[in-house]
Amino acid sequence: MLRTHTCGELRTDHVGEEVTLGGWVDTYRDHGGGLFVDIRDRYGKTQVVFGPESGTELLEASRALRSEFVIAATGTVAHRPEANVNEKLATGQIELRCTKLEILNKSLTPPVSPSQIELPSEDLRLKHRYLDLRRAKMHETLELRSRIIKGMRDYFEDHQFIDVETPVLGRSTPEGARDYLVPSRIHHGSFYALPQSPQLYKQILIMAGYDRYVQVARCFRDEDLRADRQPEFTQLDMEMAFVEADDVIDIIDGLTVKLAKEILNLDLQQPLPRMTYDEAMQRFGHDAPDLRFGMELVDFTDLAAQCEFRVFRSVADNGGHVRGINASGGGKRYSRKDIDELTEFVKNDFGAKGLAWFRVEDDGTLFSPIAKNFDQSLLDQIADRLAARPGDLLLFVADGWEVTCKALYGLRKRLGAELELYDPATMHFSWVVEFPMFDHDELENRWVAKHHPFTAPRSQDMELLDTDPGACRAQAYDLVINGSEAGGGTIRIHDRTIQQKVFSLLGMDEKDARERFGFLLDALQYGAPPHGGIALGIDRWVMLLGGLDNIRDCIAFPKTQRATDLMTDAPGTVDRQQLHELGIRVIPADEKS
Ligand code: ASP
Repeated sequence: MLRTHTCGELRTDHVGEEVTLGGWVDTYRDHGGGLFVDIRDRYGKTQVVFGPESGTELLEASRALRSEFVIAATGTVAHRPEANVNEKLATGQIELRCTKLEILNKSLTPPVSPSQIELPSEDLRLKHRYLDLRRAKMHETLELRSRIIKGMRDYFEDHQFIDVETPVLGRSTPEGARDYLVPSRIHHGSFYALPQSPQLYKQILIMAGYDRYVQVARCFRDEDLRADRQPEFTQLDMEMAFVEADDVIDIIDGLTVKLAKEILNLDLQQPLPRMTYDEAMQRFGHDAPDLRFGMELVDFTDLAAQCEFRVFRSVADNGGHVRGINASGGGKRYSRKDIDELTEFVKNDFGAKGLAWFRVEDDGTLFSPIAKNFDQSLLDQIADRLAARPGDLLLFVADGWEVTCKALYGLRKRLGAELELYDPATMHFSWVVEFPMFDHDELENRWVAKHHPFTAPRSQDMELLDTDPGACRAQAYDLVINGSEAGGGTIRIHDRTIQQKVFSLLGMDEKDARERFGFLLDALQYGAPPHGGIALGIDRWVMLLGGLDNIRDCIAFPKTQRATDLMTDAPGTVDRQQLHELGIRVIPADEKS
């Protein structure tokens, strides 16, 4: 080894020992009489001192050091003089008095400085990822990621799961997003699809008797990227045979409890809390509610029907909903101008037509420009339902169900943070279960699978497939951490007739279904046991457990929001010969409508 210790290792116990450290020059300070260099590696930093006792030659040589030079420094471990002790640094009691210096490699002036606290632009960091990854925070995050994945692997191995790899070049398995396609050279005009998930492979493995499967699987979805999505991401993918929803939830509860303890030293109670999708939409307007604070949505449609305020009345009379929240403490915090801004927020971001509000005065009365349209008994009931207290701000949206959900969910999320209704360091884990089987695509007037087409309806809802698909609830479950979906899964259909019926509801006749999923329909006829599973988003787990707010910080080499890798410059063009072999001609961008 070119080093005897790491840069995070030396303590007062080592004083007097001769050691060699290898690492990068983090910072250097020339004090005339001596040079102080912090040398850094993955494990920490150690102060290396070049003083008069190092000899003139070595002192001079050390003056050539610059940021990010890679060096090997040999010397004696010594106590730091009292005044130089750094309590914040693990090695802050000692320093290395250098007797031999080797410059192993030089560095240009780094455009991204690993020692700098203030970060440069993210584009610059991603372009020079080899420098950005040197930062202590990135090391900490990638180590956390590694521990989470190891924790998961150990847990599933302890529970008799076996790890099976599934192909990356496959046929598309629809999870609702666009596929990444890979042209086949051998089969001119044919394409592989990169897996959106190993969904069908894992179901096939179950049918083949591998009754507990797990994989840390890379998945690819060619979507327009939202802030916390990546075109390629990693899932902990698992599947089990002979189970019901409760069994899968139970296994994941056990994993969550274990990881919360290992990673956060948090004692969670098993089972984790559960609520149905319908309840989540009613109480929070969203299927992944943040349960770290209250501010629940309350329905006022019945009261709205009795008031004189035209907007409320007409929405209530026409089958819409009037719902509200109590932004507790918001009456004092938000001025009229702020409320105007909140109104623009719900209009622009969620398509609401407006925002009605009441401020709760010190004497408990409700103040609002629209208050005159409500008699006292209605005002009392409004205050009562929202448990209004002086200083609160009551906010209402009147619209169709979905708009009220979206707008109030958005408001709740924003105001919960702004009013500091929870400690951002707290963690909340829960389940949302029994999602609808289908969403209705209004534009195309057809049903689309809410999760994926292999999801089983609740057994009591089987008839609804024929009579009222919109009301049909699935054996589906999502794990929610702090208001983010951290995983989702379902019990699958294991009966060919039901699978075909669901395909038909989704607009696939027998022929289409055969063409796309013939292998699944066939396999279902050769003895498929009841089964179900789940996938957990590992990148998101790292983000949430690490208290980070950017998914790209949880991945060593992420893509930008425009799906590019700024370091390698992917995607890139390829030469004509490569395209020719694939039988592909590229349409110039300006001809592609
Ligand atoms: N394949 C699903 C997904 O990636 C997860 C599952 O149903 O197990 O969302």
